[in-house]
Amino acid sequence: ARVLAGKVAFVTGGSRGIGAAVAVRLAEDGADVALTYRQDAEAAGAVVARIEALGRRGLAIRADSADPGAIGAAVDRAAGEFGRLDVLVNNAGAFLVGPLAEVGLAEFEQTVAVNVRAPFVAARAAARHMVDGGRIISIGSNVAERAPFPGFALYSMSKTALIGLTKGLGRDLGPRGITVNLVNPGPTDTDANPADSPMADTVRGFTAVGRYAEPAEIAATVAWLAGTDSSYVTGATINVDGGFTI
Ligand code: NDP
Repeated sequence: ARVLAGKVAFVTGGSRGIGAAVAVRLAEDGADVALTYRQDAEAAGAVVARIEALGRRGLAIRADSADPGAIGAAVDRAAGEFGRLDVLVNNAGAFLVGPLAEVGLAEFEQTVAVNVRAPFVAARAAARHMVDGGRIISIGSNVAERAPFPGFALYSMSKTALIGLTKGLGRDLGPRGITVNLVNPGPTDTDANPADSPMADTVRGFTAVGRYAEPAEIAATVAWLAGTDSSYVTGATINVDGGFTI
């Protein structure tokens, strides 16, 4: 049997990029998958179609992670429609970078709301539904550990916060058999960070392997954390970054 057969996963920002790759991979591993998106209903529907083509149930929910009420309601709706919840993947992220003079309070608030508050709210909501074997996995970033470019202060700050959130939630939920872990991708070829952008060669140069990741390479580590082989791993941060942080 597939490792996630009979399980239900919830992925924020699952309509494109890394989140879409995670949603499809978890479905390949046997899970029914609910995913959120902010605006692109067509892209979200296409991912649901890929999940259903694998014989699993899929559900797209419009929910802006900046709205804590929306994210909590989306978690509850997914658990209600699918009857349980086993895996939460906090993937949606705000990438607000720029010169310090142009990055102010509004960007601070938006970054913290989407990258830190939403994972906290979603984890609290998900934990109410989860049983023994539950999994909470967040997508951070390698720039939590190494920030080689100017303009990344808010983004790096928010992704570093996930390291502490992951450790604290690991303590809170370990006694219930729920693990909590963080995956820090390196440069990954998505709409947010295309491998053919003007900056891409510079970015590639910071990695040891000299290339971008495909979203599926990030999803593979998420899938391992979601499964049973990772059962004794909790509170951990795993860099999947081609050696960017070496
Ligand atoms: P993309 O821009 O390719 O995809 C973003 C996805 O998240 C879309 O499905 C989008 O939906 C959704 N989304 C964006 N904002 C919100 C929101 N406020 N509420 C709900 N859904 C939202 O991003 P990536 O796949 O590149 O990034 C995914 C995660 O990986 C982020 O947390 C990012 O910080 C992290 N990361 C990415 C790296 C990279 O190089 N790509 C490197 C390190 C970390 P819609 O289209 O409807 O807006």
